[in-house]
Amino acid sequence: MRVVVDLNRCQAYAQCCYAAPDSFVLHGSEVLVYDPAPPAERRREIERAVQACPVRAILLEAGPEAEENRG
Ligand code: SF4
Repeated sequence: MRVVVDLNRCQAYAQCCYAAPDSFVLHGSEVLVYDPAPPAERRREIERAVQACPVRAILLEAGPEAEENRG
């Protein structure tokens, strides 16, 4: 799983930090730090963060593990 945040779009609303605190952390009031390659078990909370972001700045891409599961 790969996470990309469009930091040009991000307005530091911190909604993602509430939805997925293990993956998104706001440093100060405007610098978002995030895990670009989180473990698969965090998918659900990261999907919540994607939905929660008011400016749709978070992109979630399926990683190799999704390919493997396709059989
Ligand atoms: S919710 Fe969206 S705008 Fe807010 S900090 Fe997260 S990525 Fe940025």
